[in-house]
Formats: sequence, structure tokens, C-alpha cells
Amino acid sequence: MHRMTPTQARHTRRAVLQSAIDAGARCATADPDLFFRTDAEPQITWQARRAEAIRVCTGCPVRAACEELALRNGDGNTRVDDMVRGGLSGTQLAVARTAQADRLAAAVDADRDTERRELRDLTVLVQNEVTSGLDKRQDGTRLSPARAQTEQNQLVGLLTARINEIRTARRARTGWGVAA
Ligand code: SF4
Repeated sequence: MHRMTPTQARHTRRAVLQSAIDAGARCATADPDLFFRTDAEPQITWQARRAEAIRVCTGCPVRAACEELALRNGDGNTRVDDMVRGGLSGTQLAVARTAQADRLAAAVDADRDTERRELRDLTVLVQNEVTSGLDKRQDGTRLSPARAQTEQNQLVGLLTARINEIRTARRARTGWGVAA
């Protein structure tokens, strides 16, 4: 049986967390506005909604995964009380992030390393696809030139979209709004 190394396990952690949340988030059927304070919302009304949001999180089966992903994403701010994630307010998340700074820094590095490897692999795939023969599939079957061109364009389009998605996320994290 193939076992993952600790490094491989760290690299897949973010995807595992996101999949768990996608599958089990209790807030998937709740009002998304419940979890975020609106601009200029008075503290008194936000407090009531924040308590309700935390109640939803309390019974959520993926609460731990949600909190970990929020911390990895850098959600929360000690000076701004405007959100709830993983059962914690934004200020509580910021405090938890500070308390777990070393562990989170290692986790974020692993996440970014995963992105770097994925970018490199996708770029190689695009290059291979663009330089490959158009009319022959890997299994040896032949396609008409038009069909082959269409399939190649679709595949290159999908790969390029994923590359752009990763680049946009990386740029956004470093303060840039659009991908290079
Ligand atoms: S812990 Fe709260 S915010 Fe996170 S997925 Fe569950 S309900 Fe949603």
C-alpha cells in the first residue's frame, strides 16, 4: 500500500480542508449575510447576528476544518469585528492566528509550495499539448483535423484558466488585484 510522506500530506491538507467544508458546511443553507457585518452596521445589531452565526457554527460538522482554513487564509483582524468563521469572530481568529503563528506559517508555506508545483506541472502540460500532434490521441485513435483542433483548444483553455486562477490568488495575497 502506498503511504503519503509527511511532506505530501502537508501539501494536500488545504484541498482536504476545502473538500470537507464543501461537503459538510452547515452554513451552506444559511443566509450568507449572517456571517458578515455590513458597512456601518451598529454594534448592537451585529452582536445579535454574530451570536446567531456562532450558534450555526457550533453544530457544524466541519467546524474544525473551517477554523483551520480560515486561519491559513489569514481571516480575521484584531481591530475589526466584522465576521464569523469556524465558530470564531474575526477578532478571535486573529488572536488564534497569533497564538499559532509558527504552525500556520509552516502550513501557508506548504500551501504555496503546492501551488508552485501545480503551476509548474500545468505549464508543462500546456506546452506539451501545444507542441503535440493534433490528430492522434494517446490511445492511437485518429481524429479529423477539425475535431482534433477543437479538443486541443478546449484542453489548453481549461489548463490556462486554472493557471490564471492560481496566479490571481497568489497576486491577490501579495496585494495585487489582477494576475500578471
Ligand atoms: S463552521 Fe460555521 S462558517 Fe464554517 S462551514 Fe461550518 S457553519 Fe459555515
